Amino acid sequence: MNQDSRLFIEALQRQDLAALRKVPKADLHNHFMLGGDRKWIREHCGIQIDPITQPLTSMKEMDQWSQKSINAHFGGGSGRLIMLEATLRQAVKDGVQVLEIGEDVWALKHFYQGDIQNLLGSWEAVRQAVAPKIELRFQVGMSRHCGIDYLMEKLAPFWDRPEFYALDLYGDENAQPIENFIPIYRRARQSGWVLKAHVGEWGSAMDVQKAVACLDLDEVQHGLAAAQDPAVMADLKARQVRLNMTPSSNYLLGRVPSLAQHPIAALKAAGMEVTINSDDVLIFDSDVSKEYLRLYQAGTLSAQQLDEIRLDGLKKLKVKAFEAAQENVA
Ligand SMILES: [Zn+2]
Repeated sequence: MNQDSRLFIEALQRQDLAALRKVPKADLHNHFMLGGDRKWIREHCGIQIDPITQPLTSMKEMDQWSQKSINAHFGGGSGRLIMLEATLRQAVKDGVQVLEIGEDVWALKHFYQGDIQNLLGSWEAVRQAVAPKIELRFQVGMSRHCGIDYLMEKLAPFWDRPEFYALDLYGDENAQPIENFIPIYRRARQSGWVLKAHVGEWGSAMDVQKAVACLDLDEVQHGLAAAQDPAVMADLKARQVRLNMTPSSNYLLGRVPSLAQHPIAALKAAGMEVTINSDDVLIFDSDVSKEYLRLYQAGTLSAQQLDEIRLDGLKKLKVKAFEAAQENVA
């Protein structure tokens, strides 16, 4: 066992949050507009953002919270870069070394004059200033309610750019059938990107299986519903799909009755690769170290299992497009 693992396991056993923060971690499921350092935002912007403490009953309630607490203050282009800085500061403070975050496709025209170099340059300047040591994996994101033609048009400037690491899909899981997104994901695969989508948070195990098969996903954001069906878990395991989970978010959106009953334990026991992430720090008070500590305190997973998950998060994913390219060379 290496030094980091020993420190991490001992910190969990002592329930020492400050020590947990010092050990390297990944955050692979983070929406940067909601991922910031609360204290820094208060001190830098004079705005106090309070997390929720009781479970919400719908995504609509969460959207209302975001509108009031975030968009009202940070809705413009400069507000966006302030929230990016807040998220990077939060990640540094929490010992996050690998951070997957990104912009929504519509933001390019709206906030960066439709200029990819402007977008990339703006983000890199903030990263260099605040978190030069963090590996920032830039995702391209889109909402599930948007029309496919609209998304294809918005995605055109992004295709084949190696600066972007992954594609993600989020928003209302019931907005439209997952099959509609097949052309977009095929094109993203050609770009060599990691393919991700939010699924199985509100939807069923079958929804997760279908999305993975249709879109050829490498990773699923959430995917907790998969634990309801052993056949789906076996299928995802065979396909080497990783689930990027967010326990506090799941509890506070009423997706699980308690952290002790979170399906991450069943998924891990079934041999699936899972990771532990923040989702939305500002609304759920869910930084990555707190997530590990809460799962340990709830008895959901052992310190050893939590360390295995930490190491899996830091591991470089085997990207299918990359493997395919290697096979072609061979
Ligand atoms: Zn999410």
